[in-house]
Amino acid sequence: MKIIKSPDSMYADSSLVRGSGQTIGLVPTMGFFHEGHLSLMKKARKECDRVVVSLFVNPTQFGPGEDFEAYPRDFNRDCGMAEEVGVDVIFHPDPKNMYPQGFQTYVQVNQITKGLCGRSRPGHFMGVTTIVSKLLNVVTPDRAYFGKKDYQQFVVIKRMVSDLDIPVKIIGCPIVREKDGLAMSSRNTYLKPDQREAALSLLRALKAGKMMIKNGMNDPEKIVRAMNGIVVDSPPARVDYLEVVHPDDLLPLKRIEKRALLAGAIFVGKTRLIDNQIVSVS
Ligand code: AMP
Repeated sequence: MKIIKSPDSMYADSSLVRGSGQTIGLVPTMGFFHEGHLSLMKKARKECDRVVVSLFVNPTQFGPGEDFEAYPRDFNRDCGMAEEVGVDVIFHPDPKNMYPQGFQTYVQVNQITKGLCGRSRPGHFMGVTTIVSKLLNVVTPDRAYFGKKDYQQFVVIKRMVSDLDIPVKIIGCPIVREKDGLAMSSRNTYLKPDQREAALSLLRALKAGKMMIKNGMNDPEKIVRAMNGIVVDSPPARVDYLEVVHPDDLLPLKRIEKRALLAGAIFVGKTRLIDNQIVSVS
């Protein structure tokens, strides 16, 4: 497995690979790998000749007071795990190379970044779309893999790629969970044992909402109220948001007809966790 640090070398490596007619799959990550990350790498391994994983804790997607400095990092462990699932290249750039002095160009997707996580993390998605654009330019993949745990991110990236005519196929991958159902996240390592139970209230709330819809409830307000109640009953968990939106445009639904995305974020102590469920009404 190659480790490439400079964007120029990454571009040159990809050019050679593409020149020989091989396809490239990119898995963008911030590292501290778990099975969620590995599932994306394994899918890319099956579908592409060359698998590139970018590992970059992107400063522009963290707001003031968020956990950029504290974000867990273990480069050697990550390299071992990636190599084991057959990754060809780890692209691990230096922040100075991604955002050199004088950097002043950002990519902004407007409407679908306003709600859900975008409301509580202003500027977050601009950081995400900017870094993903840069990674797509540098790695030039045929396919790029994103987890649906970050459902809004997945929809935002698809929108950006379509709007800017970026020649890449965006692949969404299912949420990988711990045995108890908690969505895997690098941030789960922040949770103390007593916070872990409270963290599960998010999935409990989303599943209860899903069950209400399956049982015929079509009023999002009542569902949101019930979901909020479940998290409120699980201190120290606190609701950041719990919403029922359309899975394509992420706009709040007034009434549930065919499909709905139940999405939520909670704080447990300082740790912010997200999760979601898609529901189809049969
Ligand atoms: P991150 O390193 O947290 O930025 O995540 C890198 C990629 O892995 C993103 O596309 C995430 O959506 C995806 N990912 C993170 N956690 C999970 C999970 N539990 N299941 C599936 N994909 C995930």
